[in-house]
Amino acid sequence: MPRKKPTPEAAAALKPQPKSAVEKALDKLGLHRPIDFALHLPIRYEDETKIKKLEDALDGDNAQIEGEITSCEIAYRPRRQLVAVLNDGTDSCQLRFFNFYPSQQKQLAVGARIRARGELRGGMFGWQIVHPVCKAAGSALPTSLTPVYSTVAGLPQAYLRKAVVNGLARAESSGALRETICSEILSKIGQSAAWNLREALSFLHYPSPDVTLAQFEDHTHPAWQRLKIEELLAQQLSQLTSKMERDALLAPSLKAQKGGLHEKLLATLPFALTKAQQRVSEEIAQDLSQTRPMHRLLQGDVGSGKTIVAALAAAICVDAGQQCALMVPTEILAEQHFRKLVVLLEPLFEPLNLKVAWLTGSQTAKQRREALALIESGQAALVVGTHAIIQDKVIFKNFALAIVDEQHRFGVAQRLALRAKMNAPGHEPHLLMMTATPIPRTLAMSYYADLNVSTIDELPPGRTPILTKVLSDSRKDQVIERIADQIKRGRQVYWVCPLIEESEMLDLSNATQTHQELTEAFPGMLIGLLHSRMPPAEKKAVMQLFTSGEMKLLVSTTVIEVGVDVPNASLMVIEHAERFGLSQLHQLRGRVGRGAAASACVLLYSTGESGRLGDTAKARLKAMAETNDGFEIARLDLEIRGPGEFLGARQSGAALLRFADLLEDAALLERIRSVAPLILRDHAELAAQHIERWMGGKVDFLKA
Ligand code: ADP
Ligand code: MG
Repeated sequence: MPRKKPTPEAAAALKPQPKSAVEKALDKLGLHRPIDFALHLPIRYEDETKIKKLEDALDGDNAQIEGEITSCEIAYRPRRQLVAVLNDGTDSCQLRFFNFYPSQQKQLAVGARIRARGELRGGMFGWQIVHPVCKAAGSALPTSLTPVYSTVAGLPQAYLRKAVVNGLARAESSGALRETICSEILSKIGQSAAWNLREALSFLHYPSPDVTLAQFEDHTHPAWQRLKIEELLAQQLSQLTSKMERDALLAPSLKAQKGGLHEKLLATLPFALTKAQQRVSEEIAQDLSQTRPMHRLLQGDVGSGKTIVAALAAAICVDAGQQCALMVPTEILAEQHFRKLVVLLEPLFEPLNLKVAWLTGSQTAKQRREALALIESGQAALVVGTHAIIQDKVIFKNFALAIVDEQHRFGVAQRLALRAKMNAPGHEPHLLMMTATPIPRTLAMSYYADLNVSTIDELPPGRTPILTKVLSDSRKDQVIERIADQIKRGRQVYWVCPLIEESEMLDLSNATQTHQELTEAFPGMLIGLLHSRMPPAEKKAVMQLFTSGEMKLLVSTTVIEVGVDVPNASLMVIEHAERFGLSQLHQLRGRVGRGAAASACVLLYSTGESGRLGDTAKARLKAMAETNDGFEIARLDLEIRGPGEFLGARQSGAALLRFADLLEDAALLERIRSVAPLILRDHAELAAQHIERWMGGKVDFLKA
């Protein structure tokens, strides 16, 4: 059949249309399906249901008044403005506009009857409202409070209000608001008299005026409770579902061989494992022996010895004839892990004709080619590298174990890509994620509900606790004396300058300037400088000088944040400590205190022009001085900052909780967590509807 040429209209309809400003704005807010609009709840309300008489008004009232315009003119002092006067029969009120259009002037013509709304200010010259919202008087008053929604540029409030009304109606008629939590479950959660979702939403979108604003702020209201339950349940159900889906996948069962690498590695270690290291190693070995993919988070404070636990897991994998990859966030860390693991494993690998391969972005083309060949042939039993490991060109022969160090530094997509390196449908590699930022219990119960967690809760013996001092940067001289003293004793020192987010250049000049100052303070001494803009080869060279002990003092931006291990370093100075987050400070501090020598961390703060520290900064520095315990730090950080920090990449895909609060609602979360498996078992259909309602297309992000 001859193909007909499409008409111009049909062709236009086929072409993807560019998105309108409104569509883009809706995208930004994640508003697509009717249910998304229905769940977009007001951030506050305005009361347009009443008219206030000026004689009853109080200074500061947010009110609506109505009356006749008695004058309207443009004044020029102190600056150009439109000033109209409205008289409501009890008093007059000035309406002032600093920006105005001719149309407004026309609307406010003398004799017009106007309804004006805004913040009433009483003063020497009587009542006034600056920039009131005005409309013609006379229309019927609304019967519910007016919702105000969070919005973005290009999306007027009035449009959004209509879209929400519409979305709510469509959600309801399409059945998207159907009850998905049966009464038996509600009573198990302790909410037998709970509102249903439809009631809760219409209450929150269009509250009747007899509800006080205080009732909305109090999140214990049944409408709010219902939304919290819905949200927490959706989160628990979707995580459980993805866990069940993963459990249905296959992974190679990895078992340590008698007399194999695992045993040999244990025998050659220069130290005995701590009890905690033994315990977590057993948990991991147990997981690896299963045909179900491991999904385990190994958490342990900085310096608790996670690397060796990872190496032992790798040894089991190699024993079973499979390949393991260790992915780390920075080149420096990759290099350091590689060196350590080569020393430990290469002698054991050699008789088996196996190798440890190294893969980073800064390799030469030749090195890269060699590494890729080793990996593809299967001879590289362990591959250590940065995210270079997940590039398409990297092909494994028999990949079975993925280890991700400092897991929160990687994105969801990167972790998914690593797992995809095992190219067999229905199969997944075992996954071990490591972190030094322990996840507080409430978070572990919610965002990480699908994860098994192993915890190293003990440091290797012989460590002396780090002494932390908080000092104003006006006392730098004292710090320099202290540095001189440490160096005289043969120790090494880190000096960290903060990253200034807005400007990489500033960040650099800051570190360079400090380097300069210290060079002047210690004439003739070799002082290193390390920052993010240096070419990798230069970074490597500096790091090598410091590791070998030739360089005593290293000035650095936060590139040293994770993982570097120089046991002879005994003093850490952090400049502008007030700009760092709590976990970051703790990680940095963990770079010292790795040997037997007494170590110290000096937190230098600057109060800048204001002359005082902010409350949050103060709380952080105080916490640092008071405790060395990573778990305590994590708990305080959650309190000070909220969950964002811990979730890292997870938050980019999964909406953070909008209604529930992990600290406030911990008890509710616990009850919901305990009923979620029951719902999946007995009401699978409803559970699926519930997840779809809340998660839509976002579910995938939760799986990584
Ligand atoms: P992290 O958990 O921060 O990654 P590392 O794995 O880098 O810690 O270990 C920190 C230091 O402790 C390393 O120098 C490592 O060799 C050493 N170490 C690890 N386990 C033990 C142990 N059981 N006894 C003594 N030293 C240990
Ligand atoms: Mg580490």
